[in-house]
Amino acid sequence: MSSVPVAVVTGSNKGIGLAIVRALCKEFPGDVYLTSRDVGRGQAAVAQLQQEGLRPLFHQLDIDDLQSIRALRDFLKDKYGGLNVLVNNAGIAFKVNDTTPFEVQAEVTLKTNFFGTRNVCTELLPLVKPYGRVVNVSSMVSSSALRGCSQELQQQFRSDTITEEELVQLMTKFVQDTKKGVHQKEGWPNTAYGVSKIGVTVLSRIQARLLEEQRKGDHILLNACCPGWVRTDMAGPKATKSPEEGAETPVYLALLPSSAAAPHGQFVSDKTVRAW
Ligand code: NAP
Repeated sequence: MSSVPVAVVTGSNKGIGLAIVRALCKEFPGDVYLTSRDVGRGQAAVAQLQQEGLRPLFHQLDIDDLQSIRALRDFLKDKYGGLNVLVNNAGIAFKVNDTTPFEVQAEVTLKTNFFGTRNVCTELLPLVKPYGRVVNVSSMVSSSALRGCSQELQQQFRSDTITEEELVQLMTKFVQDTKKGVHQKEGWPNTAYGVSKIGVTVLSRIQARLLEEQRKGDHILLNACCPGWVRTDMAGPKATKSPEEGAETPVYLALLPSSAAAPHGQFVSDKTVRAW
């Protein structure tokens, strides 16, 4: 078994994820895994970084596929006995002018951004080694979507005692409410992406709390973040940040020094903790 530190970035064949891998290859003292749901796209991205003189490793990972997540889990367990850095970056967003019915957008978006990310956490968090760093890429849109929720929902999402099961129930209810055409009446904002990212931010707060309770001596730091508005296939060419600039905050959180005790359980943008 290798004792080399290991970092994994989900959805890293392009966009911000690729830029995170590029930065980690330069700054992380260990093996860095570029992962992709499509092996061809992943290997092409690895080849691109190799041309830049970097040495990322590759593993397939589709966060919508539990078997794929478990295959990565078993690989990490066998080869490294765990992992040191996990960046949950993979995500999707329908374009604003997409005509797919809202309830379908809700189901598909929540499936990847919330349920897929949660499944990765369920399988990989137990493997995270002492002084490990976990970064869940959320979005500022989670904050604006939170403000668009009813007072009752806002209270639940800001609660310091909400459980993962309660959060899953709320995310499931959102999808069901969109199917019944009652989501706005039920206090939800009209954004599937925004609700999925509320899920990612609140999940991060819950997971950080559980780490405090159950693995306090392990000094693991877990945070959610917003990369900013970044020029990628998701956000388009008008966005203000380059992918490298978008990677800065996730990489900062992934490389928090072992002496750091904070941030933990926070929502961070531009390397600054934001109110939730
Ligand atoms: P992007 O260029 O569209 O890249 C998204 C990445 O996620 C791609 O590698 C994609 O793979 C992967 N992915 C999607 N579904 C997946 C799945 N089921 N399993 C594994 N990988 C999957 O988007 P981006 O702008 O870099 O976004 C990265 C993260 O930042 C997302 O979580 C996004 O919500 C967040 N974010 C972005 C912005 C922005 O302005 N760009 C702002 C705030 C937050 P494929 O190539 O196979 O599709």
